[in-house]
Amino acid sequence: MNAPAKPSKLIKGATGDWEIVVGMEIHAQVSSRSKLFSGASTEFGGEPNSHVSLVDAAMPGMLPVINEECIKQAVRTGLGLKAQINHRSTFDRKNYFYPDLPQGYQISQFKSPIVGEGVVLVDVSPTEQITVGIERLHLEQDAGKSLHDQSPTDSFVDLNRSGVALMEIVSRPDIRSAEEARAYVTKLRTILRYLGTCDGDMEKGSLRADVNVSVRRPGEGLGTRCEIKNVNSIRFIGHAIEVEARRQIGILEDGGKIDQETRLYDPGRGETRSMRSKEEAHDYRYFPDPDLLPLEFDQTFVDLLAKDLPELPDEKKARFVKSYGLPSYDAGVLVMERESADYYEAVAHGRDGKLAANWVINELFGRLNKEGLDITRSPVSASQLGGIIDLIADGTISGKIAKDLFEIIWSEGGDPRVVVEARGMKQVTDTGAIERAVDEIIAANPDKVAQALAKPTMLGWFVGQVMKQTGGKANPQSVNELLKSKLGI
Ligand code: MN
Repeated sequence: MNAPAKPSKLIKGATGDWEIVVGMEIHAQVSSRSKLFSGASTEFGGEPNSHVSLVDAAMPGMLPVINEECIKQAVRTGLGLKAQINHRSTFDRKNYFYPDLPQGYQISQFKSPIVGEGVVLVDVSPTEQITVGIERLHLEQDAGKSLHDQSPTDSFVDLNRSGVALMEIVSRPDIRSAEEARAYVTKLRTILRYLGTCDGDMEKGSLRADVNVSVRRPGEGLGTRCEIKNVNSIRFIGHAIEVEARRQIGILEDGGKIDQETRLYDPGRGETRSMRSKEEAHDYRYFPDPDLLPLEFDQTFVDLLAKDLPELPDEKKARFVKSYGLPSYDAGVLVMERESADYYEAVAHGRDGKLAANWVINELFGRLNKEGLDITRSPVSASQLGGIIDLIADGTISGKIAKDLFEIIWSEGGDPRVVVEARGMKQVTDTGAIERAVDEIIAANPDKVAQALAKPTMLGWFVGQVMKQTGGKANPQSVNELLKSKLGI
Protein backbone atom coordinates (compact mmCIF):
# COMPACT_ATOMS: atom_id res chain seq x y z
CA MET A 1 0.00 0.00 0.00
CA ASN A 2 1.04 3.55 -0.67
CA ALA A 3 3.89 2.47 -2.89
CA PRO A 4 6.06 5.29 -4.24
CA ALA A 5 5.60 6.37 -7.85
CA LYS A 6 8.13 5.53 -10.55
CA PRO A 7 10.42 8.53 -11.17
CA SER A 8 8.94 8.90 -14.66
CA LYS A 9 5.51 9.57 -13.13
CA LEU A 10 6.63 12.48 -11.00
CA ILE A 11 5.51 15.97 -11.96
CA LYS A 12 8.17 18.64 -12.31
CA GLY A 13 7.29 21.72 -10.33
CA ALA A 14 9.20 25.00 -10.08
CA THR A 15 10.76 23.88 -6.80
CA GLY A 16 11.27 20.17 -7.50
CA ASP A 17 9.39 16.95 -8.10
CA TRP A 18 5.89 16.11 -6.90
CA GLU A 19 4.01 12.85 -6.68
CA ILE A 20 0.26 12.50 -7.34
CA VAL A 21 -1.80 10.30 -5.02
CA VAL A 22 -5.28 9.26 -6.12
CA GLY A 23 -8.00 7.15 -4.55
CA MET A 24 -11.42 6.67 -6.09
CA GLU A 25 -14.99 6.11 -5.05
CA ILE A 26 -16.92 4.64 -7.95
CA HIS A 27 -20.70 4.62 -7.89
CA ALA A 28 -21.86 1.73 -10.09
CA GLN A 29 -25.55 1.28 -10.76
CA VAL A 30 -26.56 -2.30 -9.97
CA SER A 31 -28.04 -4.16 -12.95
CA SER A 32 -31.46 -5.08 -11.61
CA ARG A 33 -34.96 -4.64 -12.98
CA SER A 34 -36.26 -3.11 -9.76
CA LYS A 35 -34.92 -0.76 -7.12
CA LEU A 36 -32.99 -1.51 -3.92
CA PHE A 37 -35.97 -1.25 -1.55
CA SER A 38 -39.02 -1.15 -3.85
CA GLY A 39 -40.51 -2.94 -6.84
CA ALA A 40 -40.43 0.15 -9.11
CA SER A 41 -38.68 -0.18 -12.46
CA THR A 42 -35.09 0.98 -12.94
CA GLU A 43 -35.49 1.43 -16.69
CA PHE A 44 -33.58 4.39 -18.12
CA GLY A 45 -35.30 7.25 -19.92
CA GLY A 46 -38.93 6.93 -18.78
CA GLU A 47 -41.25 9.95 -18.49
CA PRO A 48 -40.33 11.91 -15.33
CA ASN A 49 -41.80 10.31 -12.20
CA SER A 50 -43.17 7.29 -14.07
CA HIS A 51 -41.01 4.76 -12.14
CA VAL A 52 -41.75 5.86 -8.60
CA SER A 53 -43.33 3.77 -5.86
CA LEU A 54 -44.67 5.14 -2.59
CA VAL A 55 -41.42 3.98 -0.94
CA ASP A 56 -39.27 5.90 -3.47
CA ALA A 57 -41.39 9.01 -2.89
CA ALA A 58 -40.92 8.56 0.89
CA MET A 59 -44.61 8.65 1.70
CA PRO A 60 -45.24 8.47 5.45
CA GLY A 61 -45.46 4.96 6.86
CA MET A 62 -43.83 3.22 3.90
CA LEU A 63 -41.30 0.53 4.72
CA PRO A 64 -38.28 -0.45 2.62
CA VAL A 65 -37.94 -4.15 1.67
CA ILE A 66 -34.53 -5.28 0.48
CA ASN A 67 -34.31 -6.61 -3.09
CA GLU A 68 -32.52 -9.99 -3.05
CA GLU A 69 -31.23 -9.62 -6.60
CA CYS A 70 -29.31 -6.47 -5.60
CA ILE A 71 -27.68 -8.37 -2.72
CA LYS A 72 -26.65 -11.14 -5.11
CA GLN A 73 -25.19 -8.59 -7.52
CA ALA A 74 -23.14 -6.99 -4.74
CA VAL A 75 -21.82 -10.41 -3.63
CA ARG A 76 -20.98 -11.37 -7.23
CA THR A 77 -19.08 -8.09 -7.60
CA GLY A 78 -17.25 -8.73 -4.34
CA LEU A 79 -16.20 -12.15 -5.63
CA GLY A 80 -15.02 -10.55 -8.90
CA LEU A 81 -12.89 -8.12 -6.87
CA LYS A 82 -11.38 -11.07 -4.92
CA ALA A 83 -12.80 -9.41 -1.85
CA GLN A 84 -13.92 -10.38 1.63
CA ILE A 85 -17.68 -11.07 1.63
CA ASN A 86 -19.29 -10.05 4.91
CA HIS A 87 -22.03 -12.47 6.00
CA ARG A 88 -23.50 -9.76 8.17
CA SER A 89 -23.86 -6.13 7.14
CA THR A 90 -26.07 -3.25 8.23
CA PHE A 91 -27.90 -0.34 6.66
CA ASP A 92 -27.53 3.17 8.00
CA ARG A 93 -29.23 6.48 7.37
CA LYS A 94 -26.98 9.18 5.96
CA ASN A 95 -28.87 12.37 6.76
CA TYR A 96 -28.82 15.40 4.51
CA PHE A 97 -31.32 17.67 2.88
CA TYR A 98 -31.65 17.87 -0.85
CA PRO A 99 -34.82 18.58 -2.90
CA ASP A 100 -34.34 15.35 -4.89
CA LEU A 101 -34.02 13.26 -1.72
CA PRO A 102 -37.57 13.07 -0.34
CA GLN A 103 -36.63 10.88 2.65
CA GLY A 104 -34.23 13.48 3.96
CA TYR A 105 -31.63 10.73 4.23
CA GLN A 106 -29.96 8.18 2.00
CA ILE A 107 -30.04 4.53 3.06
CA SER A 108 -26.42 3.43 2.80
CA GLN A 109 -23.99 1.14 4.59
CA PHE A 110 -21.57 2.89 6.89
CA LYS A 111 -19.96 0.78 9.61
CA SER A 112 -20.56 -2.70 8.21
CA PRO A 113 -20.51 -2.89 4.40
CA ILE A 114 -21.52 -6.04 2.51
CA VAL A 115 -18.06 -6.37 0.92
CA GLY A 116 -14.67 -5.70 2.53
CA GLU A 117 -11.11 -5.62 1.24
CA GLY A 118 -10.29 -6.75 -2.28
CA VAL A 119 -7.86 -6.13 -5.10
CA VAL A 120 -7.82 -5.13 -8.78
CA LEU A 121 -4.89 -5.90 -11.09
CA VAL A 122 -4.43 -3.17 -13.67
CA ASP A 123 -2.34 -3.22 -16.86
CA VAL A 124 -1.12 0.33 -17.33
CA SER A 125 1.11 -0.32 -20.34
CA PRO A 126 2.68 -3.34 -22.07
CA THR A 127 5.43 -3.32 -19.43
CA GLU A 128 3.65 -2.12 -16.31
CA GLN A 129 1.03 -3.69 -14.09
CA ILE A 130 -0.17 -2.16 -10.81
CA THR A 131 -2.29 -3.48 -7.98
CA VAL A 132 -5.05 -1.25 -6.64
CA GLY A 133 -6.44 -2.19 -3.25
CA ILE A 134 -10.20 -2.10 -2.69
CA GLU A 135 -11.15 -0.87 0.76
CA ARG A 136 -14.84 -1.77 0.63
CA LEU A 137 -18.00 -2.03 -1.45
CA HIS A 138 -21.33 -0.99 0.01
CA LEU A 139 -24.91 -0.82 -1.21
CA GLU A 140 -26.85 2.42 -1.17
CA GLN A 141 -29.74 4.26 -2.79
CA ASP A 142 -29.41 6.73 -5.63
CA ALA A 143 -31.18 10.11 -5.35
CA GLY A 144 -33.62 11.69 -7.79
CA LYS A 145 -32.82 14.56 -10.14
CA SER A 146 -33.69 18.24 -9.93
CA LEU A 147 -34.65 19.79 -13.27
CA HIS A 148 -33.81 23.48 -13.54
CA ASP A 149 -34.14 23.90 -17.30
CA GLN A 150 -37.86 23.27 -17.80
CA SER A 151 -39.15 26.66 -16.73
CA PRO A 152 -37.66 30.13 -16.18
CA THR A 153 -39.22 30.45 -12.74
CA ASP A 154 -39.69 26.94 -11.33
CA SER A 155 -37.58 23.90 -10.62
CA PHE A 156 -38.98 20.37 -10.91
CA VAL A 157 -37.95 17.05 -9.51
CA ASP A 158 -37.81 13.65 -11.25
CA LEU A 159 -37.74 10.72 -8.82
CA ASN A 160 -37.24 7.96 -11.40
CA ARG A 161 -33.72 7.29 -10.11
CA SER A 162 -34.70 7.70 -6.49
CA GLY A 163 -34.02 4.41 -4.74
CA VAL A 164 -32.11 2.76 -7.60
CA ALA A 165 -29.39 0.48 -6.15
CA LEU A 166 -25.80 1.65 -6.32
CA MET A 167 -22.61 -0.12 -5.36
CA GLU A 168 -20.07 2.33 -4.02
CA ILE A 169 -16.63 0.82 -4.64
CA VAL A 170 -13.92 2.56 -2.64
CA SER A 171 -10.27 2.12 -3.63
CA ARG A 172 -7.16 2.64 -1.56
CA PRO A 173 -5.02 5.66 -2.50
CA ASP A 174 -2.82 3.37 -4.62
CA ILE A 175 -3.00 5.29 -7.90
CA ARG A 176 -0.06 7.50 -8.89
CA SER A 177 -0.99 9.16 -12.19
CA ALA A 178 -3.86 10.13 -14.46
CA GLU A 179 -2.90 7.25 -16.74
CA GLU A 180 -3.11 4.73 -13.87
CA ALA A 181 -6.48 6.15 -12.86
CA ARG A 182 -7.88 5.74 -16.37
CA ALA A 183 -6.54 2.19 -16.56
CA TYR A 184 -8.04 1.36 -13.15
CA VAL A 185 -11.53 2.57 -14.04
CA THR A 186 -11.33 0.80 -17.39
CA LYS A 187 -10.41 -2.47 -15.68
CA LEU A 188 -13.06 -2.11 -13.00
CA ARG A 189 -15.66 -1.44 -15.70
CA THR A 190 -14.50 -4.55 -17.59
CA ILE A 191 -14.91 -6.69 -14.46
CA LEU A 192 -18.41 -5.32 -13.76
CA ARG A 193 -19.50 -5.89 -17.35
CA TYR A 194 -18.17 -9.47 -17.35
CA LEU A 195 -20.05 -10.12 -14.13
CA GLY A 196 -23.21 -8.51 -15.51
CA THR A 197 -23.60 -6.55 -12.26
CA CYS A 198 -23.40 -3.06 -13.85
CA ASP A 199 -23.64 -2.14 -17.52
CA GLY A 200 -20.81 0.39 -17.13
CA ASP A 201 -22.56 2.90 -19.39
CA MET A 202 -20.98 6.18 -18.30
CA GLU A 203 -23.09 8.28 -20.68
CA LYS A 204 -26.23 7.14 -18.90
CA GLY A 205 -24.62 7.70 -15.52
CA SER A 206 -24.38 3.99 -14.64
CA LEU A 207 -20.78 4.54 -13.57
CA ARG A 208 -19.63 7.78 -11.92
CA ALA A 209 -16.33 8.48 -10.24
CA ASP A 210 -15.50 10.65 -7.24
CA VAL A 211 -11.78 11.24 -7.51
CA ASN A 212 -9.66 12.07 -4.45
CA VAL A 213 -6.48 13.85 -5.46
CA SER A 214 -3.56 15.01 -3.36
CA VAL A 215 0.11 15.71 -4.04
CA ARG A 216 3.24 15.25 -1.97
CA ARG A 217 6.99 15.33 -2.21
CA PRO A 218 8.28 11.83 -3.06
CA GLY A 219 8.71 9.82 0.10
CA GLU A 220 6.56 12.08 2.29
CA GLY A 221 3.24 11.23 3.99
CA LEU A 222 -0.13 11.87 2.40
CA GLY A 223 -1.02 15.48 1.57
CA THR A 224 -4.43 17.11 2.03
CA ARG A 225 -6.83 15.81 -0.59
CA CYS A 226 -9.60 17.35 -2.61
CA GLU A 227 -12.49 15.28 -3.88
CA ILE A 228 -13.67 15.89 -7.44
CA LYS A 229 -17.32 14.81 -7.61
CA ASN A 230 -19.19 12.85 -10.24
CA VAL A 231 -16.77 12.69 -13.13
CA ASN A 232 -18.58 10.75 -15.82
CA SER A 233 -16.06 9.77 -18.48
CA ILE A 234 -12.74 7.97 -18.35
CA ARG A 235 -11.07 10.70 -20.38
CA PHE A 236 -12.39 13.40 -18.04
CA ILE A 237 -11.09 11.47 -15.01
CA GLY A 238 -7.59 11.74 -16.49
CA HIS A 239 -7.96 15.47 -17.28
CA ALA A 240 -9.47 16.26 -13.90
CA ILE A 241 -6.55 14.62 -12.07
CA GLU A 242 -3.97 16.45 -14.16
CA VAL A 243 -5.47 19.92 -13.71
CA GLU A 244 -6.23 19.37 -10.02
CA ALA A 245 -2.68 18.17 -9.28
CA ARG A 246 -1.27 21.21 -11.10
CA ARG A 247 -3.54 23.52 -9.11
CA GLN A 248 -2.42 22.02 -5.81
CA ILE A 249 1.26 22.13 -6.75
CA GLY A 250 0.86 25.82 -7.70
CA ILE A 251 -0.63 26.64 -4.29
CA LEU A 252 1.99 24.67 -2.34
CA GLU A 253 4.91 26.11 -4.29
CA ASP A 254 3.61 29.61 -3.56
CA GLY A 255 3.77 28.74 0.14
CA GLY A 256 0.00 28.19 0.54
CA LYS A 257 -1.88 25.22 1.91
CA ILE A 258 -4.60 23.00 0.47
CA ASP A 259 -8.09 23.25 1.91
CA GLN A 260 -9.84 19.90 2.07
CA GLU A 261 -12.92 20.43 -0.05
CA THR A 262 -15.26 19.02 -2.65
CA ARG A 263 -14.65 20.33 -6.16
CA LEU A 264 -16.33 20.14 -9.53
CA TYR A 265 -14.51 19.43 -12.78
CA ASP A 266 -15.52 21.66 -15.68
CA PRO A 267 -14.42 19.98 -18.92
CA GLY A 268 -15.30 23.07 -20.98
CA ARG A 269 -12.88 25.28 -19.08
CA GLY A 270 -10.41 22.53 -18.22
CA GLU A 271 -10.38 23.41 -14.52
CA THR A 272 -11.78 22.30 -11.18
CA ARG A 273 -13.61 24.71 -8.90
CA SER A 274 -14.77 24.66 -5.32
CA MET A 275 -18.28 23.33 -4.56
CA ARG A 276 -18.24 23.18 -0.78
CA SER A 277 -15.87 22.53 2.07
CA LYS A 278 -15.49 18.83 2.70
CA GLU A 279 -17.99 17.35 5.10
CA GLU A 280 -16.94 14.72 7.62
CA ALA A 281 -18.85 11.53 8.39
CA HIS A 282 -20.22 13.03 11.64
CA ASP A 283 -21.90 15.82 9.64
CA TYR A 284 -24.30 13.21 8.29
CA ARG A 285 -25.40 11.91 11.69
CA TYR A 286 -25.23 8.32 10.50
CA PHE A 287 -27.30 5.88 12.53
CA PRO A 288 -28.62 2.35 11.90
CA ASP A 289 -31.85 2.42 9.89
CA PRO A 290 -34.55 1.17 12.30
CA ASP A 291 -36.68 0.01 9.34
CA LEU A 292 -34.14 -2.59 8.23
CA LEU A 293 -32.79 -5.63 10.05
CA PRO A 294 -29.12 -6.46 9.64
CA LEU A 295 -28.54 -8.26 6.35
CA GLU A 296 -27.39 -11.83 7.00
CA PHE A 297 -26.64 -14.79 4.75
CA ASP A 298 -24.49 -17.90 5.02
CA GLN A 299 -21.54 -19.26 3.05
CA THR A 300 -23.84 -21.56 1.01
CA PHE A 301 -25.49 -18.46 -0.46
CA VAL A 302 -22.03 -17.15 -1.46
CA ASP A 303 -20.87 -20.52 -2.80
CA LEU A 304 -23.90 -20.84 -5.05
CA LEU A 305 -23.18 -17.43 -6.57
CA ALA A 306 -19.46 -18.23 -6.91
CA LYS A 307 -20.27 -21.43 -8.79
CA ASP A 308 -22.18 -19.52 -11.46
CA LEU A 309 -19.66 -16.75 -12.06
CA PRO A 310 -18.45 -16.45 -15.66
CA GLU A 311 -14.76 -16.72 -16.53
CA LEU A 312 -13.41 -13.31 -15.44
CA PRO A 313 -11.00 -11.09 -17.40
CA ASP A 314 -7.85 -12.01 -15.42
CA GLU A 315 -8.53 -15.74 -15.74
CA LYS A 316 -9.41 -15.43 -19.40
CA LYS A 317 -6.25 -13.43 -20.00
CA ALA A 318 -4.11 -16.08 -18.27
CA ARG A 319 -5.75 -18.77 -20.40
CA PHE A 320 -5.10 -16.78 -23.61
CA VAL A 321 -1.43 -16.40 -22.66
CA LYS A 322 -1.14 -20.13 -21.99
CA SER A 323 -3.27 -21.60 -24.79
CA TYR A 324 -2.44 -19.20 -27.60
CA GLY A 325 1.09 -18.14 -26.61
CA LEU A 326 0.17 -14.44 -26.49
CA PRO A 327 2.12 -11.67 -24.75
CA SER A 328 0.32 -10.75 -21.55
CA TYR A 329 -0.55 -7.20 -22.66
CA ASP A 330 -2.05 -8.38 -25.97
CA ALA A 331 -4.15 -10.92 -24.10
CA GLY A 332 -5.27 -8.10 -21.80
CA VAL A 333 -6.38 -6.00 -24.78
CA LEU A 334 -8.35 -8.91 -26.22
CA VAL A 335 -10.23 -9.65 -22.99
CA MET A 336 -11.18 -6.00 -22.34
CA GLU A 337 -14.67 -6.77 -23.64
CA ARG A 338 -16.25 -10.20 -23.46
CA GLU A 339 -17.45 -9.85 -27.07
CA SER A 340 -13.91 -9.10 -28.34
CA ALA A 341 -12.55 -12.10 -26.47
CA ASP A 342 -15.21 -14.35 -28.02
CA TYR A 343 -14.49 -12.92 -31.47
CA TYR A 344 -10.76 -13.56 -31.02
CA GLU A 345 -11.32 -17.14 -29.90
CA ALA A 346 -13.49 -17.80 -32.95
CA VAL A 347 -10.68 -16.50 -35.21
CA ALA A 348 -7.87 -18.27 -33.34
CA HIS A 349 -9.64 -21.63 -33.20
CA GLY A 350 -7.49 -24.12 -35.14
CA ARG A 351 -5.15 -21.34 -36.35
CA ASP A 352 -1.92 -19.61 -35.29
CA GLY A 353 -2.98 -17.74 -32.14
CA LYS A 354 -0.36 -15.01 -32.44
CA LEU A 355 -1.15 -14.30 -36.08
CA ALA A 356 -4.83 -14.19 -35.19
CA ALA A 357 -4.13 -11.77 -32.30
CA ASN A 358 -2.11 -9.46 -34.57
CA TRP A 359 -4.92 -9.31 -37.06
CA VAL A 360 -7.63 -8.77 -34.48
CA ILE A 361 -5.73 -6.12 -32.51
CA ASN A 362 -3.91 -4.23 -35.25
CA GLU A 363 -6.13 -4.47 -38.31
CA LEU A 364 -9.60 -5.09 -36.95
CA PHE A 365 -9.55 -3.03 -33.71
CA GLY A 366 -7.64 -0.28 -35.53
CA ARG A 367 -10.27 -0.11 -38.25
CA LEU A 368 -13.19 -0.34 -35.81
CA ASN A 369 -11.74 2.53 -33.74
CA LYS A 370 -11.33 4.66 -36.83
CA GLU A 371 -14.99 4.16 -37.70
CA GLY A 372 -16.18 4.47 -34.10
CA LEU A 373 -17.69 0.97 -34.19
CA ASP A 374 -17.65 -1.70 -31.49
CA ILE A 375 -16.90 -5.35 -32.16
CA THR A 376 -20.57 -6.38 -32.29
CA ARG A 377 -20.98 -4.15 -35.34
CA SER A 378 -17.85 -5.28 -37.17
CA PRO A 379 -18.47 -5.57 -40.93
CA VAL A 380 -15.84 -8.35 -41.03
CA SER A 381 -17.02 -11.49 -39.22
CA ALA A 382 -14.74 -13.81 -37.27
CA SER A 383 -15.10 -16.48 -39.96
CA GLN A 384 -14.20 -13.99 -42.71
CA LEU A 385 -11.11 -12.81 -40.81
CA GLY A 386 -10.21 -16.46 -40.16
CA GLY A 387 -10.56 -17.07 -43.90
CA ILE A 388 -8.09 -14.25 -44.67
CA ILE A 389 -5.59 -15.70 -42.19
CA ASP A 390 -5.96 -19.16 -43.77
CA LEU A 391 -5.03 -17.68 -47.15
CA ILE A 392 -1.84 -16.21 -45.66
CA ALA A 393 -1.03 -19.44 -43.85
CA ASP A 394 -1.33 -21.64 -46.94
CA GLY A 395 0.73 -19.21 -49.04
CA THR A 396 -2.12 -18.17 -51.36
CA ILE A 397 -1.60 -14.49 -50.57
CA SER A 398 1.14 -12.42 -48.94
CA GLY A 399 0.59 -10.42 -45.75
CA LYS A 400 0.57 -7.25 -47.84
CA ILE A 401 -2.14 -8.49 -50.21
CA ALA A 402 -4.05 -9.71 -47.16
CA LYS A 403 -4.39 -6.09 -46.01
CA ASP A 404 -5.92 -5.15 -49.36
CA LEU A 405 -8.19 -8.17 -49.11
CA PHE A 406 -9.23 -7.12 -45.60
CA GLU A 407 -10.27 -3.72 -46.98
CA ILE A 408 -12.35 -5.35 -49.72
CA ILE A 409 -14.09 -7.70 -47.28
CA TRP A 410 -14.65 -4.77 -44.90
CA SER A 411 -16.46 -2.69 -47.52
CA GLU A 412 -17.95 -5.30 -49.83
CA GLY A 413 -18.17 -8.50 -47.78
CA GLY A 414 -17.86 -11.96 -49.36
CA ASP A 415 -15.89 -15.16 -48.95
CA PRO A 416 -12.18 -14.22 -48.87
CA ARG A 417 -11.09 -17.24 -50.95
CA VAL A 418 -13.68 -16.51 -53.65
CA VAL A 419 -12.68 -12.83 -53.75
CA VAL A 420 -8.99 -13.70 -54.14
CA GLU A 421 -9.83 -16.09 -56.98
CA ALA A 422 -12.17 -13.67 -58.75
CA ARG A 423 -9.81 -10.67 -58.56
CA GLY A 424 -6.59 -12.50 -59.41
CA MET A 425 -4.98 -11.61 -56.08
CA LYS A 426 -3.17 -14.91 -55.70
CA GLN A 427 0.46 -14.76 -54.83
CA VAL A 428 2.76 -15.59 -57.73
CA THR A 429 4.85 -18.57 -56.69
CA ASP A 430 5.61 -19.39 -60.30
CA THR A 431 9.38 -18.84 -60.17
CA GLY A 432 9.51 -18.40 -63.95
CA ALA A 433 7.41 -15.24 -63.78
CA ILE A 434 9.31 -13.89 -60.78
CA GLU A 435 12.63 -14.71 -62.43
CA ARG A 436 11.70 -12.73 -65.55
CA ALA A 437 10.90 -9.70 -63.40
CA VAL A 438 14.15 -10.07 -61.46
CA ASP A 439 16.22 -10.34 -64.66
CA GLU A 440 14.59 -7.27 -66.17
CA ILE A 441 15.20 -5.12 -63.12
CA ILE A 442 18.82 -6.24 -62.75
CA ALA A 443 19.47 -5.55 -66.44
CA ALA A 444 17.89 -2.09 -66.28
CA ASN A 445 19.79 -0.93 -63.18
CA PRO A 446 23.52 -1.68 -63.43
CA ASP A 447 24.36 1.22 -61.08
CA LYS A 448 22.16 -0.17 -58.33
CA VAL A 449 23.68 -3.62 -58.85
CA ALA A 450 27.11 -2.17 -58.17
CA GLN A 451 25.78 -0.48 -55.03
CA ALA A 452 24.12 -3.66 -53.82
CA LEU A 453 27.36 -5.62 -54.15
CA ALA A 454 29.10 -3.06 -51.93
CA LYS A 455 26.17 -2.73 -49.54
CA PRO A 456 23.92 -5.82 -49.28
CA THR A 457 21.13 -3.86 -47.49
CA MET A 458 20.40 -2.41 -50.96
CA LEU A 459 18.65 -5.72 -51.61
CA GLY A 460 15.49 -4.19 -50.18
CA TRP A 461 15.33 -1.73 -53.07
CA PHE A 462 15.36 -4.64 -55.56
CA VAL A 463 12.70 -6.53 -53.63
CA GLY A 464 10.52 -3.40 -53.75
CA GLN A 465 10.96 -3.09 -57.52
CA VAL A 466 10.06 -6.72 -58.15
CA MET A 467 7.01 -6.48 -55.95
CA LYS A 468 5.95 -3.33 -57.82
CA GLN A 469 6.34 -5.02 -61.18
CA THR A 470 4.34 -8.06 -60.08
CA GLY A 471 1.55 -5.99 -58.54
CA GLY A 472 2.59 -7.04 -55.03
CA LYS A 473 1.70 -10.63 -55.77
CA ALA A 474 5.16 -12.20 -55.90
CA ASN A 475 5.99 -14.46 -52.99
CA PRO A 476 8.46 -12.29 -51.02
CA GLN A 477 10.55 -15.26 -49.97
CA SER A 478 11.04 -16.45 -53.53
CA VAL A 479 11.94 -12.90 -54.61
CA ASN A 480 14.56 -12.65 -51.90
CA GLU A 481 16.12 -15.98 -52.73
CA LEU A 482 16.22 -15.33 -56.46
CA LEU A 483 17.72 -11.87 -56.04
CA LYS A 484 20.42 -13.14 -53.71
CA SER A 485 21.47 -15.87 -56.05
CA LYS A 486 21.37 -13.68 -59.19
CA LEU A 487 23.29 -10.83 -57.57
CA GLY A 488 25.63 -13.20 -55.78
CA ILE A 489 25.11 -11.64 -52.36
MN1 MN B 1 -22.01 7.21 -2.03
